[in-house]
Amino acid sequence: MTAATTRGGTPWTPQFVEAINPKVCIGCGRCFKVCPRDVLTLVDRGEDDDTDDDDWDDEDAKAMMTVKDPMDCIGCGACGRTCPKGCFSFVAA
Ligand code: SF4
Ligand code: SF4
Repeated sequence: MTAATTRGGTPWTPQFVEAINPKVCIGCGRCFKVCPRDVLTLVDRGEDDDTDDDDWDDEDAKAMMTVKDPMDCIGCGACGRTCPKGCFSFVAA
């Protein structure tokens, strides 16, 4: 596990982005805006030809956020805090 401290010396464990749930992401871009690193990228969903109920069904969500470069994540957690849909999962590494 990565050991870190705050500037004041308080122990702090970074939480690195692990995944973004594509079924609930609405492609709003909030997480992208707050990320201080080049970790996330918005991608086109393409055609949704699957009518299953467990698939994404928001007609406005034409794009979704994905993790482009997980190795550039510093584990700040800002993306998860700003996401209105609770898409993110994290792991301490
Ligand atoms: S935890 Fe921080 S650095 Fe990592 S993807 Fe989220 S906002 Fe970016
Ligand atoms: S903040 Fe959440 S809902 Fe918005 S694009 Fe990022 S992962 Fe998707």
